[in-house]
Amino acid sequence: MYTLPALDYDYDAFGTYISKDIMELHHSKHHQTYVDKLNAALEQAPELQSKKLEELLRNVDSLPENVRTAIRNHGGGHYNHSLFWKFMSPDGGVEPKGALADALNSKYGDFQGFMDAFSTAATGVFGSGWAWLQPDMSIVTTPNQDSPLNSGAPEPLLGLDVWEHAYYLDYTYKRPDYIKAWWHVVNWHEAQRRFEQQP
Ligand code: MN
Repeated sequence: MYTLPALDYDYDAFGTYISKDIMELHHSKHHQTYVDKLNAALEQAPELQSKKLEELLRNVDSLPENVRTAIRNHGGGHYNHSLFWKFMSPDGGVEPKGALADALNSKYGDFQGFMDAFSTAATGVFGSGWAWLQPDMSIVTTPNQDSPLNSGAPEPLLGLDVWEHAYYLDYTYKRPDYIKAWWHVVNWHEAQRRFEQQP
């Protein structure tokens, strides 16, 4: 059985960048629902319960048809949000350092160049979805609760939830304002750790 992961910080950790109300609803309601519906789907397919979630998401097309969509959406939702909470920190917002900074600079010219490209990609997601930074420094987007795993790509270094539920209470329809605020809370330590520990 999957469970809702505890956050490493309080719901009010991000001040006005992302409000306590959004954090609480997003974690305790939206993410909890993905967990509950993933567990419900796996009750219909007990043979999948011993598999790692990443493995299920990498092989979504070969899952039994009766649970395929539920695992794609709710398993994806659980995977994506579990990462997303780690991608933010009250100590965030500083620029990346070390090998990750070098890799970003070499691909995007400088850190601002990366932020601009990522913000443009995230802003351009039609409807609900995510923007991701991959270990090869590419920026990709996915619809709904898909992640790079669905297309066989490696696990992301960083990702941004651009579903309206992630920002509407604070920013209404102004997704670019939410993205601008999010840069202040990005946990670059986590992205660096993932970049340096990739297989
Ligand atoms: Mn979300």
